[in-house]
Amino acid sequence: MMTGQPIIRFEGVTKRYGKVVAVDDVNLEVREGEFFALLGPSGCGKTTLLRMLAGLEVPTEGRILIDGQDVTNVPPNKRPVNMVFQNYAVFPHMNVADNVGYGLKVDGVPSGERTMRVEEALALVKLDGLGSRRPDQLSGGQRQRVALARALIKRPRVLLLDEPLSALDAKLREAMRTELCQLQAQVGITFVMVTHDQDEALALADRCAVMNRGLLQQVASPSDLYEFPASRFVADFIGSVNMLEGRLVVDEPAFAEVAVAGIDQPLFLDHGVTGAAGTTLWLALRPEKIELHKDAPQPPALGDAPQGRNAVAGRITHVAYLGSESLYEVTLGDGQKLKALRSNLTRWDQEDFALGEAVWLAWHACSPAVLLS
Ligand code: ATP
Repeated sequence: MMTGQPIIRFEGVTKRYGKVVAVDDVNLEVREGEFFALLGPSGCGKTTLLRMLAGLEVPTEGRILIDGQDVTNVPPNKRPVNMVFQNYAVFPHMNVADNVGYGLKVDGVPSGERTMRVEEALALVKLDGLGSRRPDQLSGGQRQRVALARALIKRPRVLLLDEPLSALDAKLREAMRTELCQLQAQVGITFVMVTHDQDEALALADRCAVMNRGLLQQVASPSDLYEFPASRFVADFIGSVNMLEGRLVVDEPAFAEVAVAGIDQPLFLDHGVTGAAGTTLWLALRPEKIELHKDAPQPPALGDAPQGRNAVAGRITHVAYLGSESLYEVTLGDGQKLKALRSNLTRWDQEDFALGEAVWLAWHACSPAVLLS
């Protein structure tokens, strides 16, 4: 969706617990109306960052601003944010309507208005008519919606979500992804979500911040994270990747050549790298960008750029049929293994590739992401 001005700013935010640096000098902006995901492996500091935004933790250093106001030392209930927790924490002894209206009651909102807003909130999460049920009479997905309704009813400027779908089974999680996206678009509130599930972050978020060991690694849209990762960590964390370590041997403005141990001829890139010859770098090549061929691919036609295509020979050492596609492991002469993903879209009239078969792998010179760290 269209997003606007920055609504949240982290300025040099660090959080230490004794010797542990949970969050390390994070500078970050989240824009108004954005669905933003904090993503990273366990222990990377993403939950701590979210909790600081909620006011449940105080930064050791730095400032947090919401709508231009310094909220670093403002208590949670005085911030224009609301949080949906991982275990959704609904009150078991209250019915759904009372759960959803609880925050308004605490705030002294009169009962007439409360009833109206509860109905509105329940309709928003598609729980109309279930107000009198008790939480134990709901499915997991419905309980999650109660938690969402309860957080949204207070009309926060920012909704914080801590692993919101992790308690649901795989099928339901996928269905709820779409709903969560639609809900966010409908209410137009800025969502900040923590997740360790990269698929979830890619599917839901307008932009993601990838964290590792307390440090912000990259902030970008899902497609930019995938196509243009800034480091080996990000390339490896987001999706599946072949990582080829090489040495820059030719670097021209319009193309470059990279020597990779175990591959006879240098690999071509259709752009310059602006590094010194001899620099070590990594080519991150996604499995779906590698084609399988029975025969050596034809050299590029006259007039085509000579660096149009890269091809290496190998043997198929594993095949995994995954339904919509098949994943081939191909072992090169020196024992190095590359993964190639092939769509099964037109499987009926495709050449078949069998375990043990000698094949050629080919990819375009624009396919690999070039990483210097
Ligand atoms: P997970 O996905 O496992 O929840 P995370 O990426 O959200 O992990 P955090 O919970 O933010 O990571 O934790 C970051 C680091 O800070 C970890 O090393 C963790 O052990 C440490 N940490 C978090 N909270 C505390 C605390 N209250 N006291 C001491 N150390 C803490």
